[in-house]
Amino acid sequence: MVGDTERFMALPIPGMPGVESVMRIGKPYKLVARESRPEATEIQVGDVIVGRDSFVVIAGPCAIETEEQAMASARAAKAAGAHILRGDAYKHRTSPYAFQGLAKRGLEILAQMRAETGMPTVTEVLQTTDVELVASYSDVLRIGARNMQNFELLKEVGKLHKPVMLKRGLASTIEEWLMAAEYIANQGNEEIILCERGIRTYEPMTRNTLDISSVPLIHSLSHLPIIVDPSHSGGKRELVGPLARAAVAVGADGIMVDVHPKPEAALCDGPQAITTEEVAELVADIIAVAKAVGRPMANPKQNLSAIGE
Ligand code: PEP
Ligand code: MN
Repeated sequence: MVGDTERFMALPIPGMPGVESVMRIGKPYKLVARESRPEATEIQVGDVIVGRDSFVVIAGPCAIETEEQAMASARAAKAAGAHILRGDAYKHRTSPYAFQGLAKRGLEILAQMRAETGMPTVTEVLQTTDVELVASYSDVLRIGARNMQNFELLKEVGKLHKPVMLKRGLASTIEEWLMAAEYIANQGNEEIILCERGIRTYEPMTRNTLDISSVPLIHSLSHLPIIVDPSHSGGKRELVGPLARAAVAVGADGIMVDVHPKPEAALCDGPQAITTEEVAELVADIIAVAKAVGRPMANPKQNLSAIGE
């Protein structure tokens, strides 16, 4: 099978020179493999379940820049009917001169976003020494694409009793991604949400190429939930809606989108952020596609009431 992870080993048969028997030695990942748990893993994040038949929307600022900017994004996400907030206090930037995040102050603002909206949060942790601090502020810890193979960090979050979102590496194969998840599971933490955020290809028109096929592939190879990040994959505001709708239709368990009150003034990833006005329309579009493909939205009480259903 092309690209599948089945492993076979040829073994010589004693007394039969030139004849070999072939033994299947299985996939290189075990705990996260679908074979080890046929039913889909459901992850409780606050009062929302990620990974059931239903679909979750995660929304909020890419980076927490100021209290006003972060709170405006959080309020818009809640009003639109999103389930979980995003917002980063620590940023991995390509340039050392780019905004690196507000660090501890950013975590405090994240706590305020959570307190005011009552919504659970996801935020990135960059290094092993920050894991305890970040875990004390957020419901979900995110491992970014640039850290997907930071094995010490994977092991550290693997020791937590808290959900971890693992983004796909910049140019990682699906097998490498699942092996990274295995590092976390192997330490005892199987509350892992995979996040497809596009991979680097030869195409420069998009920030990354959204590998939509990874969604059904992951569902067949693993019991873990998988969400799609249409913001970091397309890298353009006008692609967020179409890619988000594709994510619902292809069977993803959710999406995560960047929202900013003034994208043109954003300190990080402005071109891909949707505005605080656009987020409600995005959620309404997602609900329409979800209905068409027979996928309920997660926690409908909270979600649908916001758009008057
Ligand atoms: C992000 O989600 O803010 C982010 C940095 O994404 P990635 O790690 O996928 O590049
Ligand atoms: Mn970003």
